[in-house]
Amino acid sequence: MAIKVLNEKCVGCKLCLPTCAQGAITMLDTKKAFIDPVKCNYCGACLDACKKFKAILIQVDRKVSDQDLSLYKGIWVYAEQRHGEIASVVYELLNEGRKLAGELGEELCAVLIGHNVTGKANDLILHGADKVFVVDSNCLKDFNDESYSKALVSLVEEYKPNIILTGATALGRSFIPKVAVMLETGLTADCTQLDIDQYTKLLLQTRPAFGGNLMATITCPSFRPQMATVRHKVFKKAVKDPNRKGLIIAKNIQEDCLLARTKLVDFVKEVESTVNLSEADIIVSGGRGLGDPKNFALIRELAQLINGAVGASRAAVDAGWIPYSHQVGQTGKTVCPKLYIAVGISGSIQHMAGMQSSENIIAINKDPQAPIFEIATYGIVGDLFEVVPALIAKIKK
Ligand SMILES: Cc1cc2nc3c(=O)[nH]c(=O)nc-3n(C[C@H](O)[C@H](O)[C@H](O)COP(=O)(O)OP(=O)(O)OC[C@H]3O[C@@H](n4cnc5c(N)ncnc54)[C@H](O)[C@@H]3O)c2cc1C
Repeated sequence: MAIKVLNEKCVGCKLCLPTCAQGAITMLDTKKAFIDPVKCNYCGACLDACKKFKAILIQVDRKVSDQDLSLYKGIWVYAEQRHGEIASVVYELLNEGRKLAGELGEELCAVLIGHNVTGKANDLILHGADKVFVVDSNCLKDFNDESYSKALVSLVEEYKPNIILTGATALGRSFIPKVAVMLETGLTADCTQLDIDQYTKLLLQTRPAFGGNLMATITCPSFRPQMATVRHKVFKKAVKDPNRKGLIIAKNIQEDCLLARTKLVDFVKEVESTVNLSEADIIVSGGRGLGDPKNFALIRELAQLINGAVGASRAAVDAGWIPYSHQVGQTGKTVCPKLYIAVGISGSIQHMAGMQSSENIIAINKDPQAPIFEIATYGIVGDLFEVVPALIAKIKK
């Protein structure tokens, strides 16, 4: 892909400048616009601004598909499991998948990959799947992105689904991009909304862009399957119907076709002293303002007192003060608790992208200009080392 300004057409009007969220456009001494290809993300906003002069050109090297798209039918949900437990996002995807399948008049299928997992297949039918493909093999005992990708790709090549939905979980994120590359198709990560275009019947995959400042709707018109990941808690869970019937299809894939170059050495369970972050109704999060890892003790004490989970900003995680599993934000967890207490967190766009839909937000920060106060329900301007102990003392009382 390439972008360039056609100097003979550019009139130096500067209309393109404010449209560029990346700050990639500058004016040269020659009074012509210049677009820095390193900063540009080819969103096309400047093209719209330059409609009158047509002085900006984006060249796309489009790969041509030789697939017969009409052969691809059905909505597939990847039924992620760990140690035989189906991830709760799967039930959310079955609910949304059922809606999409209804709009397209196609089947909803689930794909279950692992070892000793066949017993879980019927539960997926009771939650909305018409069919469940099961690949049950000893060499799929531990999750391995290479073996799991090979298993899923093998099923896709045989059955040609139209759409594949997967949870944007740690496991989903680690192997679904590999599947998309192996199938040479597109993948939209972290969708917050899925629809079917009334006319083209394409999957409309909507996700936040530019740190959550705008929503982008993405389609995959030329390749199949259309693939999307969706974060946990974006959709409601499917309701179980104990009378639903469906088909379970056991697939045997030769073990040597599932071999991987890596192996699991050990599984260490993280000790979580408070409730799970994604499910929590109350979250107390700490940021760089805590100044030292030992000061997370304050956050933990407050969280424990009000039965909350402990969250963190990326600055605190990157400093090694708390494990990544506690990170809230664009590259951490998306949370939607009834109460979110942000302590010593400035409120970067990336942090707010993961918590701004919380019902109530209390921000504690010594800087009255901190952006977190713009979205806070209640703001406390003050030193956290005075405010938090005072809160703890009051609650204890
Ligand atoms: C691609 C990308 C993805 C990212 N993803 C995430 C993400 O998922 N989650 C995330 O959080 N960040 C993410 N970031 C990082 C983000 O941009 C910020 O750097 C980060 O959120 C800052 O963390 P912070 O608010 O703890 O630190 P700071 O911005 O340094 O804020 C610290 C705050 O503490 C306050 N403070 C200091 N001392 C005290 C005191 N004694 N009492 C009260 N207040 C005090 C200060 O006034 C300040 O406002 C991402 C960045 C990028 C580029």
